[in-house]
Amino acid sequence: MQRRTAFAFHEHCLWHDNGPCSVFATPGKHVQPAAAVEHPETKRRLKNLLEVTGLMDELVPIKGAPADESDLLRFHTAEYLARLAQMSEFGFGDAGECAPLRRDSYDIARRSTGQAIAAMDAVLRGEADNAYALCRPPGHHAERDRGRGFCLLGNIPIAVMTMMARHPLKRVAVIDWDVHHGNGTEQAFWERDDVLTLSLHQDRNYPVDSGDIEDIGGGVGRGYNLNVPLPPGSGIGAYQAAIERVVVPALERFRPELVVVACGYDASAMDPLGGMMLNSQAYTEMTARLLDVADRLCQGRLVMVHEGGYSEGYVPLCGHAVIQTLAGSAIQADDPMNDEIARWGQQTLQPHQEALLARLDGLVRHLG
Ligand code: ZN
Repeated sequence: MQRRTAFAFHEHCLWHDNGPCSVFATPGKHVQPAAAVEHPETKRRLKNLLEVTGLMDELVPIKGAPADESDLLRFHTAEYLARLAQMSEFGFGDAGECAPLRRDSYDIARRSTGQAIAAMDAVLRGEADNAYALCRPPGHHAERDRGRGFCLLGNIPIAVMTMMARHPLKRVAVIDWDVHHGNGTEQAFWERDDVLTLSLHQDRNYPVDSGDIEDIGGGVGRGYNLNVPLPPGSGIGAYQAAIERVVVPALERFRPELVVVACGYDASAMDPLGGMMLNSQAYTEMTARLLDVADRLCQGRLVMVHEGGYSEGYVPLCGHAVIQTLAGSAIQADDPMNDEIARWGQQTLQPHQEALLARLDGLVRHLG
């Protein structure tokens, strides 16, 4: 089924410069200077691929305005935003922990958040059936009062909070399949029962001290935060099972009016920061499954917001697969690695992965 898929993008997002961050740490001593792994090319090549295959011509292009400070304040502290603005004007700094920035980064981060807002707004206004925000810097590690892990502003928390203020929207689910824990999104909605946050991530990758299965939210939000810390080495079968056993039943019980995905591609087999084994076909299938659930629960209202993913070669192919599926398009990008990755060892669900999912059954049953 063909759908109207909004595509939110602004070139300025790709101009954010991580500055003197070498691959993933400050260069010096034994770390040779090099470009940061969070690099514009992973995203630019996805956009280029959409142009080359022609899929871009089937999308509804939108350009979000930079997010207003009043919307940023729904999540972040005024002190943090002032510090971010000051460092950005100075032209150099770190917003917290491995969140480097240079001149104009604050404006560009507001632009990034603006794409997430525009994507959700387009769907909630009925101008598109679903949407994809290709934005940068990413957002799911940013906390209330500091940046973390290449994230400066919480794109998804800010956009969701803004949408809940602007639209008659009562329940939102955020599914995070970036290979890292969505700690910022978890923090934003920790004590809320109207936003379900569910993160699938590699057990103790980053941040190493968060994302435990026992972290289920607090106060009235208790039970409305789910963490699925998959063992390193999880592949196609483990993710399929996690979607079927945890994500789908959680959504069915929670009955959201909008489903948002923190769409990272660093769980792909080719990623330099992750230890998982997904191929582009797995991203197609996960997207199709969420669309199917969104069709039943909330008129297909599904919004993907780009997060991590650091393989310049592979992110474009996985991203194209996701966007093709959202749009229900026949235009496919040929993935030369797809079949080879599928044949890697232990791609089927392994007993220790199954044991983790079994521990989540009870938590899912308590939802709703
Ligand atoms: Zn990530």
